[in-house]
Amino acid sequence: LIKVKDLHKVYHNRLHALDGVSEEILKGEVVVIVGPSGSGKSTFLRSLNLLEVPTTGQVYFEGVDITSKETDIDRHRQKMGMVFQHFNLFPHKTILQNITLAPIKLLKKSKEEAEARAMELLKLVGLEEKANAYPSQLSGGQKQRIAIIRSLAMDPDVMLFDEPTSALDPEMVGEVLELMKKLANDGMTMVVVTHEMGFAKEVATRVIFMDEGKIKEQGAPKEFFENPKEPRLKDFLSKIL
Ligand code: ATP
Ligand code: MG
Repeated sequence: LIKVKDLHKVYHNRLHALDGVSEEILKGEVVVIVGPSGSGKSTFLRSLNLLEVPTTGQVYFEGVDITSKETDIDRHRQKMGMVFQHFNLFPHKTILQNITLAPIKLLKKSKEEAEARAMELLKLVGLEEKANAYPSQLSGGQKQRIAIIRSLAMDPDVMLFDEPTSALDPEMVGEVLELMKKLANDGMTMVVVTHEMGFAKEVATRVIFMDEGKIKEQGAPKEFFENPKEPRLKDFLSKIL
């Protein structure tokens, strides 16, 4: 579904944030990315939908080189949902408006059709009674679940998550992880940067360890956590588990 070839990202301060990353993400995979702060996880994730333009290297999405100058990136990006640490809901729009905005504007759905789909998604997360509320009236966990279903309303082929639970109060982490687990079980292709090792162990089909802009090790969760090979990964795991 997504294939990246020898990605490098050098920031103007000459920092090598990505140092030759090649990877392939298959349809239906749930790939969890872990690694120390500053190791390039966000840069890698954001490169997948070209929020971050790699200095060199290619990103292929559904067979199309989206790093090519000729590609209409907006059209492809619509197929990639992204959820960040901070939910980025529009504060002056209701929850229903937040969810239906992009489908109406970009998918040219009718208001009725977009709202029907939005209500379906709201039911999925048990928040249908919040349709006419404003984001400020919701808890952090509720806002993040809305941010996720807002992405789903665009009918994406892949969902990218960058630390979706890191900004939440501990008691709200579970409800967001539950929703992500539900998506995974429904077959959504997902790439998730997270520190939630329980989620990685339980839900990931593959775990990737990044360090210093490189993928240093990866594998199925059981092997990855029980039998790490790289000294840097052993060290990382010993600090967080
Ligand atoms: P964290 O766990 O803290 O989120 P990360 O693994 O996501 O870290 P990145 O955000 O990808 O790491 O950053 C990789 C490196 O690139 C870091 O050293 C960071 O300081 C640097 N970096 C990231 N964004 C920029 C930018 N816009 N300009 C300059 N340097 C940047
Ligand atoms: Mg990050």
